[in-house]
Amino acid sequence: MLKRPSITFWATLFVAVVCLALVAIDGWRSWNARAQRLLDMEQLSSNLARSMAYQANDTIKAADVGLADIVERIEADGVGTPALERVHQRMVAQVQQLPQLAGLFVFDDTGKWLVNSRPELTPSMNNADREYFIYHRDRPGRAPYIGVPLVSRSTGQWIIPVSRRINRPDGSFAGVALATLDVDYFRHFYQSFDIGQRGAVALLSNDGRMLLRRPFSEAFIGKDVRDTTLFQAYERTRSGGSAFLLSPNDGEERFNSFRALPNYPLFVTAALSKEEMLEHWRRDTFAHSLGVVLLAAMLGLFGKRLVDQIHRRVDAEAALRKARDALESANRTLERQAMQDGLTGLANRRQFDVTLGNEFSRAMRYQHALAFVMLDVDYFKQYNDVYGHQAGDDCLRTVSGVIRALTPRRPGDLSARYGGEEIGILLPNTDMAGAHAVAERIRQAIEELRIVHTGSAVGVVTLSAGVAVLVPQRGKHLSVMLVEAADQALYMAKSAGRNRVCDAAEEKGSAAGV
Ligand code: GH3
Ligand code: MG
Ligand code: MG
Repeated sequence: MLKRPSITFWATLFVAVVCLALVAIDGWRSWNARAQRLLDMEQLSSNLARSMAYQANDTIKAADVGLADIVERIEADGVGTPALERVHQRMVAQVQQLPQLAGLFVFDDTGKWLVNSRPELTPSMNNADREYFIYHRDRPGRAPYIGVPLVSRSTGQWIIPVSRRINRPDGSFAGVALATLDVDYFRHFYQSFDIGQRGAVALLSNDGRMLLRRPFSEAFIGKDVRDTTLFQAYERTRSGGSAFLLSPNDGEERFNSFRALPNYPLFVTAALSKEEMLEHWRRDTFAHSLGVVLLAAMLGLFGKRLVDQIHRRVDAEAALRKARDALESANRTLERQAMQDGLTGLANRRQFDVTLGNEFSRAMRYQHALAFVMLDVDYFKQYNDVYGHQAGDDCLRTVSGVIRALTPRRPGDLSARYGGEEIGILLPNTDMAGAHAVAERIRQAIEELRIVHTGSAVGVVTLSAGVAVLVPQRGKHLSVMLVEAADQALYMAKSAGRNRVCDAAEEKGSAAGV
């Protein structure tokens, strides 16, 4: 059968479960906090990309609307001096209205400056070598072209060129109208975002060139990004999306949200550093975990002490129980020894006296007969002399065994070693005939044992018995009288030749037959 787990096992299990639960709950909480933080990061970068896309679109659109107006005027009014003067004034007004607009320019079909937004028209230069000029000259399309930032020939500042083609009435190339957007205008806007130390934002073109980036560096301007994972991710949707990407520029892992501008072939991306975003969470988790581990350790230590104490108490209780059991067993042994005869295992004289007293009183109270048989081994002195005291003891033990076996087992019946090799049997509520029969059965049984005894006339061990019966009368009889009567009957049996049972004479006075 399985042993039932001890209280210390349950206590240990309880402490362990509590500690584990603490750690598990905190771990779960931390993991949730991390997931929440990443979700926040996704939302933040997605919102950022959306607002960047609208800002870039609106900024470009405002300049582009003016540009379309200029193209329309020149195509309609031609490039005569009064027409150019009207365009010039319109340009000056527009540049003053739009903070992002650095300048407006018109070039003829050879790249020569025709008119611009300067209050004073500066000496003419030639922009035929510019990318946007070549672009429009070689392509008939009327859509605006947005080029890579470059340093303005007129002001020396970084600008983003937005240009449109001017046509002659026959559709042939007549020149280019250009609006330059101040790069600093974008940079200030991008600088205002809280994207941490390691975040990045960028404006890129659909053909895979980087226009601007924060952190700002001239090295990024015009950079080919066609083979980056970011561009490939954008290529797949051409509208917007998000992904964890490794930056090829600085090796940082960032969460990138990208989004196309609604009206122009550009897109923006807002990227937040995963490391940086999780830094706060990491610190928080570390502090938490430390606290929880300390708590669990304290709980563990406390629990261990508790378990140790329970253990000690259980041990002490077990020792106490053992001591009590030993004491009880010793007491039982002592009690038995106090009431039992060591050699024969029969009741001893003390028990016999107590029982005789009790049974005598009871018999007196209920007016029952109380019988007593006194047995004595014949020629036992000689047996000892012939076979030795040890053999005498053995013989006595055997005889006692037979007597015990043949003594009735009703309540109050008792066989006891009265003294030496004399054994008494107390039989309450038994008449002379009954007691005599018991004695006779025993006598026969002993004789039939056929224990060789050369000192006896019959050659084997025998015994004699005297039987007395009394219905005790108050004030007339004493218990000792019953014993004396049996003793006299025994004497008679001895005198009559031994190996027999004699009943006490009823006319003896003290004994009354029933
Ligand atoms: P009788 O037939 O008249 O009874 O002769 P007996 O020799 O038996 O005489 P008695 O009853 O007077 O003898 C008592 C003897 O029993 C004395 C002693 O040697 C022996 N005896 C008494 N108690 C013990 C005992 O515990 N062990 C042994 N081995 N012998 C005992
Ligand atoms: Mg004797
Ligand atoms: Mg004897």
